[in-house]
Order: sequence, then structure tokens, then C-alpha cells
Amino acid sequence: MRTNQPQTIYLKDYRVPVFLVDHVDLRFELFEDGARVHSVLSMRRNPDSDSSDTSVELNSDTLTKLESLSLDGKELGIDAYEDSVDRLVIHDVPDHFELGVVTWLEPQNNTRLEGLYQSSGMFCTQCEAEGFRCITYFPDRPDVMARFRTRIEADKASFPILLSNGNDVEKGDLDGGRHFVTWEDPFPKPSYLFALVAGDLVEKRDSFRTLSGRDIDLRMYVEPRNSDKCDHAMDSLKRAMRWDEEVYGREYDLDIFMIVAVDDFNMGAMENKGLNIFNSSCVLASQETATDMAFQRIESIVAHEYFHNWSGNRVTCRDWFQLSLKEGFTVFRDSQFSADMGSPTVKRIEDATMLRTAQFAEDSGPMAHPVRPESYMEITNFYTLTIYEKGCEVVGMIHTLLGPDMFRKGSDLYFERHDGQAVTTDDFVRAMEDASGRDLSQFRLWYEQAGTPELTVKDEYDQAAGIYRLRIDQRIPDTPGQTNKKPQHIPFAIGLLGADGESLPLKLSATDADEPTDRVLELTEASHTFEFHGVSECPVPSLLRNFSAPVRVYYPWTREQLMFLMSHDPDGFNRWDAGQRLAVDVISGLVGEAGSEAVDSGLTEAYRGLLTDTSLDQALVAKMLQLPSEAYLIELADKPNVPDIHRAREKVLGHLATALRDDLLACYKRNSVEGRYEVTPQAVARRSLRNTALAWLLHTDDEEGRALAESQFAKADNMTDRMGALRALVNSGYEQECKQMLDAFYEQWKADPQVVEQWFAVQAGSSRTGGLSRIRELMSHPAFDWKNPNKIRSVIGVFAGQNLPAFHAEDGSGYRFLEEQVRRLDDSNPQIAARLVSPLTRWRKYAPVHGEQMKKALEAIRDKSGLSRDVYEVVHKSLAGQ
Ligand SMILES: [Zn+2]
Repeated sequence: MRTNQPQTIYLKDYRVPVFLVDHVDLRFELFEDGARVHSVLSMRRNPDSDSSDTSVELNSDTLTKLESLSLDGKELGIDAYEDSVDRLVIHDVPDHFELGVVTWLEPQNNTRLEGLYQSSGMFCTQCEAEGFRCITYFPDRPDVMARFRTRIEADKASFPILLSNGNDVEKGDLDGGRHFVTWEDPFPKPSYLFALVAGDLVEKRDSFRTLSGRDIDLRMYVEPRNSDKCDHAMDSLKRAMRWDEEVYGREYDLDIFMIVAVDDFNMGAMENKGLNIFNSSCVLASQETATDMAFQRIESIVAHEYFHNWSGNRVTCRDWFQLSLKEGFTVFRDSQFSADMGSPTVKRIEDATMLRTAQFAEDSGPMAHPVRPESYMEITNFYTLTIYEKGCEVVGMIHTLLGPDMFRKGSDLYFERHDGQAVTTDDFVRAMEDASGRDLSQFRLWYEQAGTPELTVKDEYDQAAGIYRLRIDQRIPDTPGQTNKKPQHIPFAIGLLGADGESLPLKLSATDADEPTDRVLELTEASHTFEFHGVSECPVPSLLRNFSAPVRVYYPWTREQLMFLMSHDPDGFNRWDAGQRLAVDVISGLVGEAGSEAVDSGLTEAYRGLLTDTSLDQALVAKMLQLPSEAYLIELADKPNVPDIHRAREKVLGHLATALRDDLLACYKRNSVEGRYEVTPQAVARRSLRNTALAWLLHTDDEEGRALAESQFAKADNMTDRMGALRALVNSGYEQECKQMLDAFYEQWKADPQVVEQWFAVQAGSSRTGGLSRIRELMSHPAFDWKNPNKIRSVIGVFAGQNLPAFHAEDGSGYRFLEEQVRRLDDSNPQIAARLVSPLTRWRKYAPVHGEQMKKALEAIRDKSGLSRDVYEVVHKSLAGQ
């Protein structure tokens, strides 16, 4: 992986593989001091390739040591092939041949967590995107799909459980206390979907009967201490399996479906065929140890990985430029699933918040790239919000444009046409076009052009003619390597409201017989004007309902209009959005020199209305009461000074907490109903409301609030309430009480890594307790572990991503701290190091007092010797002139 000048790989250079692999026979010998991997590949010339090259190329990595190589049973001498750091070329091969490869690995020393490695004593793998080459020499690209047979041999006492993809076809004992299990996967798959697990794990079993009546064996494997944290994931899995049958007509195909939880994992989870491997934090949950948010996240990730069995595994990506083919579509599927399981409006708010806060930032920064990138250096850097979340929005817009029935026809055609193939995003769009008869040629620009479209909306009302005109101009900002972009095809959902809050009919011409109160306009031109006829009064427009496209909308709303929409818009998303826009307007108005001005009483009254009107949807109210985050305010600001934004937001929060004290207490008490813990939208909303009320009360160091927090902490029977009380106190001025509570919490939960991660995060993310000295203390805490990505994320990642006033301290100490950690991690785990750099990459956005120091930190990282390709790419792109 170490190379001085990382190569850029281009989509335009794609060629079909010259040789294919039909079958892979693997034998893993696992030992304490290493692993030997015997591989036999049945290879043949690809009839679709026009190359006459007689050399075959395999990928490799510094983690693999080649022990022997043979062709059709004959050992190859060193002059028969060329072996460089990352590839091996064998000359003069016939059209059909068997290639034997033996490699030696040291999984116990693999800190990159790619390929085969050890975590808490067990062996596990991570092969996406290019991890299989860290196990053996192989044409490691997704368009090479093969059938795998895998035999695993290990010590029986230490590794009683031996797992791989497919069905177990043979098992038995070997000499020396060892045993073996052989697995066969009948479905051809790319090597990135290969998986192996060996360990001393407990098995939790369940079963699922498919719609066609087949019984599927469901198994979860976890360490014994986690055996009581599997039920939620198992239930989520069964719900996801049923949902995919009902909504997409997709049934599971193998006889066994397995999930394994692993503590040390770079990603959230991995959809290996029949053997999903999860980061423990994304699958293990009990009421006592996981918050409501974690319960919901687990449900959606379990579903996501399961859904990949069709959108990703049965139909996979031709090359890594097509990553969004599987990720965008699967995130869309898991979003629909979560919306169906809970509150669709709340789910939409959560998705849009993430997109507008983080993906829009990515889309306007130095790493901006299209949903289907044109080039990359290190593919693991492209597991981004753009590929996943914007990719999901792009699929969602197709769903909006086609409607649910046509969309389903399109997805049926896509699966039918491409089952067993490795295809492109273009193939996906074509299936949608062919099924629906719609022309999506302009729509394809969403895959090709980076950057967030900006829509400027102007309106006028002609009272005499009863015509309301809406003019929408779209502009797509320049991004690295892309200028002068073409207008995109954007579904723009709207409604119009009359003065009494009623929805007005939307007639697009005087003779329009259709009078819906909700319409999806289709923008295709740089400037588009729509006329609505028969409009009897000057309306308030409700724009981009349900966030129908991932765009920024500019319209000169007055605060009165926003307050009106907050209480009248029938579109729940836009109600919430109006509240956000109002709060953003008020907070932004108090940044910097205006900091001493009074907080608009309109905002206070709007929030009072939310707190006291119990007839409102409480799940929506719980979301509406969340003030826009600092990260979002920074995203919206031009050359932001972060400490100033922090102060303005704190001031508004303090003002609201003081002015609404009695309403907050009443809200707290009203929502403190006893009863069995449940994760329903209503119950989640209740806990969210009472914990928000508590947080606000403690923001002003309210005595009664402190007493409530302490008693809630002591009595809580679930992690949401326990953590809610702890977080409120951590962010208050009650230092002594806070310290006691943190110590008590740690004492109680120190044996549980997932809870300790939450304990780290609540401190690292607090602008009250999470100063740099505290961060360094946390990093020298015995529970902190440099080899464990979750610990790194929960302290260093949370500090740089959430504790923004400390990270952006004016003396630059936060930036230098991150620089130091990235340099250190680059040697052991470059993937995680490259992710951690991200907050520094947008140095150009910030006020110069910040930007210059961020740039210096990036330069210091750039100058580290032996910099990994992962970090090299991010840092060089960030420093390059646009
Ligand atoms: Zn995925």
C-alpha cells in the first residue's frame, strides 16, 4: 500500500477482464502465529474481451507473502511471472487453466483491518473494496464473479465456530485437536463479498418462512457476553425479509443467513453473501445498553445489509465507479423500510438533516465528486455521503418521477434482466426507462455532475387575473474538475396556502381540469416559470415538499411566513423545515457584532406553541424542538467564525430555556409516563421530548432540572433516559455532580465496550467538558484502544466533528491535535486516518483566522514520510487549487 506516487484510476480506462474465474477452491489453515491460504482458481479467457494478451494479471498486497504458484499443477519458477508490490503478472497462459496460489498471512498483526485479521481473538475478514487481495493473489475486481468453495481448518477448542459464505457441506476432526468445516456458495460472486469467521462464539438461532414456503435458518454469532443483545437485530432481520418480499418481491435465496458481530471493524457492516459481518455497535442492543437512536440505526443497518442480497450481491457493480449502483439503491430501500416501520415524516427529516449538514458540505468542498465518479486514487475514500446519501436521493427522485407502481416495474425488470451480472448505474436507469417509457436522459446528469443545485425562487401574484407565477432558476456551482454545468431534471413538489391555512388548488392553466393541492413540478431548464390559475388570494408557497430533491432553495421568506408554515403546512417535512429556517434566521442574526441584540420573541412564542399544544404529532414536535446544529449553521454561513456561531446559538438556547422554563417543566412531567420500554414512534418521541426539556433546563443550570436529571439517571431502566440525564448534566455548569455521574456510569458499564464508547462520546462532544486536556485524558484512559476504530471515532472523531468550538479554537490547538492523531494512525490504519482528516479539508470555507491554520495542519500531514495512499489522496486534493 505504500507508494510514493499513487496512481489515479479512470472510469474511461475500464476494459472487460481478459480472463475470468469460474471457480475458486480455498483452504485456510489458521494458526496462532499466522494463516496459510491455499487457493485454486479455474480460469478461462473471457469471450467478451478483444485482447489477445496471453498474460494474466492478479492483484496482491504487502500483507500477503507468496509461498508458491503453480499452473495446471506445475510449480512456476520465478522467471515465469513478474511480482511487484501490488500485482503479479504470469506470462504465456493457455485459454483454460488452473492456477494454484499459496500465501502466508499474519492476521494477528494486521492493524489495517482489511483482508483477514484478528479481533478479540477471533479471525474475521473485510474484503470490500479491495481486501481479498490481502488474502491471496486474485483478479480482485467486482466484474470477476466466481463460485467459491472454502475449507477452514483451525484448533477446535479455540475456534469451535468456522464460517464462510453459502451452505456448510462437510465437517470433521483433524489430527492435533484441529477440525475443519467446508462451505459452498452456489451463487457466483465477486471476491469483495467473500467472508470468513473463526472463533469461540455463541450461536442464536431463529427461522423465517419465505412467501414461497421455504424455511430459512437464521443464525447470529456473538461473543458469550453479548448473548442477550441479539433479539433486536434478529427481529429487525425478519421484518426486513418480510418487507423485501412484500414491497420488492425479493425472496432470500440460500438456506442459511448468518450475522456475526465483531468489535474491531472499519465500517458499519458488510453484506458478504449469506454471512453479514457487523461492527458490534451496529448490531448489538438491549434496552439497558442502547439508546433509541441505536435501536433505530441497528434496524436500518440490518435491513440495509440484508437488502444488498439482491441490490448488490445478485446484481453487483461492474467496477467501483458504480459503487452507488448498489449503495444508493440500497440506502433508498432501507430508508423506505425505516419509514414504513416508524414515522415517514421523521425519517425524512433525519435523512434531509444529514444530507444538508454533511453531504452538501462534501459537495461544496475539495473532495466533491459525482454520484458516479470519473476517477479515484484509493476507492475506500469514496465510501462517501455522496455515493450513499445523494445516491439514495437520486433513486428517490426516480421513484417520485415514475410513481411507486412504475418504479416497482422498473426494479423488477432491473433484477430480472441483470440477475447474476455486474452492471452500471446506467443499466439501472435504463431498466427504469424501459419499464416506464419515460425518458431519463437529462436525469442521468445527477450521476455525472457533482455539486448541489441551487434553486432561486421568485414569485408574483396578479390579483386581477387570479394568476400566481413562480419562477425557479437553477444553478449548479463549479466543483473540482467540473465547470459550466448543464441544468438537471429536478422534481420539485409544492403546495400553496391561503391566509386561513387552507390548501389552494394548483391549476397549471385556465382550462386545467385537474385541481390537486399538491403537485410535483419538473424542472428541466436553467429558468422555469409556472403559472397557477384561479388563485383567489396571494398565497404562501410551500416549496420542495418532503424534500423532493437534494437541492438548496432560496426564497425570501419573511419570519411571519415561516411561523405561518410552521403551524399550517399540511406537509410535515415543510412544517419542520419552516421552524429550522426561522431558527437559522434568528441565530444567524445574532452572530458577531449583533451578538448583544435581543432574541426575536416570535421564535420564543413559536416554540411555546410547540411545547404546549399536545394535539400536535409529538414525534414531529420532538424533531421541531431541536435547534439547528452548529454544523448546519456553519454549513450555511459564508466564511464562518465558529466560536461566534457557537455563542449565538448558545444565547438563543439560553433565552428559550429561561423564557419557557415552566413549559419545559410541564413538558418534562407530561412525558414522564411509566411503563414498559418500547421503541415505537410515540414512545421514542416521549423520551426525546423529556430529554430535550431536561437538556434545555440544565443549559441554564436550573436547580429543579438538576434534581430531575439526577433522579432520572438513578431510576432509568433504559439507556436513552440514562444517557439523556448524563448528557444534560455534562453540558451544564454542575461540575461536581457531573463528575460523580460520569464515574458512576463508567463503574457500572466498564465491561461493555459499546456503552464505554457512548461514555467517551458524551464527553468528547461536549463543549463544556470536552476541552483538549480532557480529550487527551480520555485517550490515555485504559478503555481507549488505538487498534479499535470505534474508540478512535468516539473520542477523536466526535471531538473534531461535534465539539466544534473546541476543535476550531482560535489558537489552532484543535487542528494541531487532529494533525498529530492522523499522522499517528496513518501507519496503523490508513482507512480510518483518511476519514479523520475530513474536518480539515474544508479550510477554504472558514474565516482566515481558522483557514490558514487548518491548511498548515494539512501540510504537516502531507509532509509525513511514507504517507498512505488513502491519506495522500484526501490531503492532496484538499490542498490543490480549484
Ligand atoms: Zn451498503
